[in-house]
Amino acid sequence: MPGRNGWMADIYVEVPAKAVDRPYSYLIPDEWREEVQIGSRVQVPFGPRTLIGYVVDVREGELPPRVKAIQEVLDLQPPLTPELVGIGRRMADEYLCTTITALQAMVPSVLKGTYQKKITLATDYDQREVSASLEEMFGSLSQAISEGNGVISWDEACQIQGIHRGILKRLSEQGFIRIHEVVGDKITKQTTTWVWLTSPSDGEMMLRDLPKRAMKQREVFSYLLEKGVEVPLPDLLSATATARTTVKSLVEKGIISWEEREEYRDPYAHRTFEQTTALSFTDEQAAAFEAIMKPIEQGEAETILLHGVTGSGKTEIYLQAIAEVLVKGKEAIVLVPEISLTPQMVDRFKGRFGSQVAVLHSRLSSGERFDEWLKIRRGEVKIVVGARSAIFAPFERLGIIIIDEEHESSYKQEENPRYHAREIAQWRIQEHQTALVLGSATPQVESYYAARTGEYRLVNLHKRVHGRPLPEVEVVDLREELAQGNRSMFSRSLKTELMECINRGEQAVLFLNRRGYSTFVMCRDCGETLACPHCEISLTYHETNRTVRCHYCGYASQLPKCCPQCESEHIRHFGTGTQKVEAELGKAFPGIRVIRMDVDTTSRKGSHERLLHDFGAGRADVLLGTQMIAKGLDFPKVTLVGVIAADSMLHLPDFRAAERTYQLLTQVSGRAGRHEYLGKVIIQTYSTDHYSIQAAAEHWIEDFYRQECQMRKLHLYPPFRRLYTMVISHPDRVRVLQYGQEIARSLNQGTFQYDYQVLGPVPAMIPKIKDRYRLQIMIKYEANPDLNAYVKERVRQATQVQDDADLRIQVQRDGV
Ligand code: ADP
Ligand code: ZN
Ligand code: ZN
Repeated sequence: MPGRNGWMADIYVEVPAKAVDRPYSYLIPDEWREEVQIGSRVQVPFGPRTLIGYVVDVREGELPPRVKAIQEVLDLQPPLTPELVGIGRRMADEYLCTTITALQAMVPSVLKGTYQKKITLATDYDQREVSASLEEMFGSLSQAISEGNGVISWDEACQIQGIHRGILKRLSEQGFIRIHEVVGDKITKQTTTWVWLTSPSDGEMMLRDLPKRAMKQREVFSYLLEKGVEVPLPDLLSATATARTTVKSLVEKGIISWEEREEYRDPYAHRTFEQTTALSFTDEQAAAFEAIMKPIEQGEAETILLHGVTGSGKTEIYLQAIAEVLVKGKEAIVLVPEISLTPQMVDRFKGRFGSQVAVLHSRLSSGERFDEWLKIRRGEVKIVVGARSAIFAPFERLGIIIIDEEHESSYKQEENPRYHAREIAQWRIQEHQTALVLGSATPQVESYYAARTGEYRLVNLHKRVHGRPLPEVEVVDLREELAQGNRSMFSRSLKTELMECINRGEQAVLFLNRRGYSTFVMCRDCGETLACPHCEISLTYHETNRTVRCHYCGYASQLPKCCPQCESEHIRHFGTGTQKVEAELGKAFPGIRVIRMDVDTTSRKGSHERLLHDFGAGRADVLLGTQMIAKGLDFPKVTLVGVIAADSMLHLPDFRAAERTYQLLTQVSGRAGRHEYLGKVIIQTYSTDHYSIQAAAEHWIEDFYRQECQMRKLHLYPPFRRLYTMVISHPDRVRVLQYGQEIARSLNQGTFQYDYQVLGPVPAMIPKIKDRYRLQIMIKYEANPDLNAYVKERVRQATQVQDDADLRIQVQRDGV
């Protein structure tokens, strides 16, 4: 017997397991034919459970026997576009994760569960004619709403006789009710009624026609006439001391109009943004702008590497390119590293484009993030400025993607799906045939190489705007200081300069790289260092409450009084943490005002902004901090930048160590003398002759990239080779070794036929984290499409050889 024909949806359900990582077909009930689209989030029966899933395809065909039906469509508008669904499937393939994990990564976290939908009456529902078919239903609904003090939940509404999703949608579309998507316990969107004169040009005449007795009406009318713009109803009522009914009767006469509009929780609502206008370009800027506009005008996908020192006017170029894109009715995505998504950065975009900008960063609450995202999804904003995940902004007419500070490692996600925003951006510009702009003073080596070899277009901005010179950089040899008997953490040079800077009433930034350089605790007698009992990593000493803490798992304990190994009391903390530098500064410069910025002082929401604001307002002489102060800041009074120890990250076992050192030093140097004052930079180091430090100090940009590329070529690293790094972890030390060897053996099978290398297993850089032992295997190969596909498949198979719930295998590509 042939099966029935019908409409079906292919759905990935929210179970992140390899076993169910495939689409399942469900019947689309007739009433939802229109609503179920590619990208819709739906509820479906799955075995004994009910699960949420994403629709990846909709088709008509022969229904499989015993096909189950979709139970519910969850959102008013599909959260994903067809383009994003395609990207999700591609991510699953490229990054070896499940498709559902990739799809979930593209939507706000509140959509990972269900949220509430609530229903209220629209302000002006009583001015509308309800159709006969809806009359009865609307009657019982509005009664339920008033019994519920003005609001009922979606589920309650659906329990009313005769009311279902379709009816609610129709009532909402026709303006009788409002459906609010609620996150947490608050209604996500507030609504405000706006009022305006229907035809202001006839205003004088209409005022004459109003009856003299209608004092209040005349008053309301004159107020609006005088204002000449739309005003919020509450403002109008308080300004004219009138009741709502007065306004309503004017509306009924058609003299004035009103409309209820949604207002979002806007994290920037309390701030005003000074409007800015386009500056006229320097010659270099104009050339860069033209290069960016070319693919946009011609509708071609092209990546442009905008290589320009800090202060060379890149942001101004972004702003004007976006303005052009908006003129074309298109949209823009701007990615900024999380830590430089500062109020200063936001100001520049809001200042130029006002409410057309949505901002997405991780310091927003999940409700706030959801609100910003909804504005994008509904096309109410044209620009999104955000951190990594903003690359998934559901725009449908994308006209440009800009990735500022493109070398930043925060564009790579460290957990599944391990995507790189730059790569997703490449896919998106292919889809939309437009420009991707990568901006940086210190591009990633791979990007620079791609630009030098013609894969990207390279545009240089050599000069700072107004020809402000780059700061003078002095490299101080710390070995020499020690030889001269200076045991403090400040060289004589840095001390002198800091003193003079403060005396001149200017400001300094002191930079301390925390990685590998925080305070550890060591026994002077036996040399034992205190390590986390769960992770093989040194504990960090915290002065404020005399505790030691693990920065990987959060383990904390009191500083022991004696060595746990030999019981000696000579247990001391060593190294230089930000807290320690702060204390030393206080000793060396009595009365100095220091603002310290590190993970401890910025963990609370808003504290990051507040500290920067205080520093900008001149409430401190020194800003002392970690990586997070290295970029993006622009304070006119900063004339001195000091780097306490430049080589603290040079010796990490990472092929990017030299690159990262160079980038960091160049970035921090860029903080000095950005305005009328001249700047000075002092770099303290034990490795004065390393090329990354020299190149940063002398501003030898090309030299650095040339030397670094030679090293990479010699040691077979990207961009000359592709890499897969696998980290295999397990709570059992013996088992992890067995698995490691098995996986390596499986990977090695192809090496007879194909040209790639398998290195390892070896202990990972951190051999134990959170009680799990970790091994690493690296696979290196020459990048070509065939080999890429083959190696990927090998890696995929190797990750599936073992069936052990305790075994975890992380795969990451190219170590970006
Ligand atoms: P970058 O993003 O490369 O660090 P910015 O765009 O922030 O550079 O520019 C540095 C400073 O110069 C900013 O204060 C900016 O307003 C200003 N500026 C940029 N372009 C121009 C221009 N064409 N004319 C005048 N000032 C400019
Ligand atoms: Zn000891
Ligand atoms: Zn730990």
